[in-house]
Amino acid sequence: MEDCIFCKIVRRELPADVVFENEEIIAFKDINPMAPTHVLVVPKKHLASLDDLTGDDVGLAGNLLLAVKEVAALSGVAGGYKMLSNCGEAAGQVVPHLHFHILAGKKFVP
Ligand code: 5GP
Ligand code: ZN
Repeated sequence: MEDCIFCKIVRRELPADVVFENEEIIAFKDINPMAPTHVLVVPKKHLASLDDLTGDDVGLAGNLLLAVKEVAALSGVAGGYKMLSNCGEAAGQVVPHLHFHILAGKKFVP
């Protein structure tokens, strides 16, 4: 996707504080952290949100969850973090490229 912010980060056309990367996933610190630890785990493939996942993405979906766990450990928050994904504008999604927030060091409800 030409104009997608996260696709630009994947292509290194925009800077980011990258903490993890493999063939299909990248993770970087959120530019506007809502908690002491706030990292975004992002598939390199452009999918607008969880609603765009299909059966073809079952491997990617599993690997994203495993990457969340790994990035939490790399960030020093294993065993004490929240993971969330906003799906759609009505849920507060601002960047229309699937991503999982890892948040830690602060209490959130729910
Ligand atoms: P959403 O509301 O879509 O679930 O979350 C998007 C997140 O992306 C926000 O927390 C926002 O701070 C973060 N973000 C937006 N633009 C950039 C950027 O250019 N770089 C980084 N590192 N994070 C960004
Ligand atoms: Zn994208």
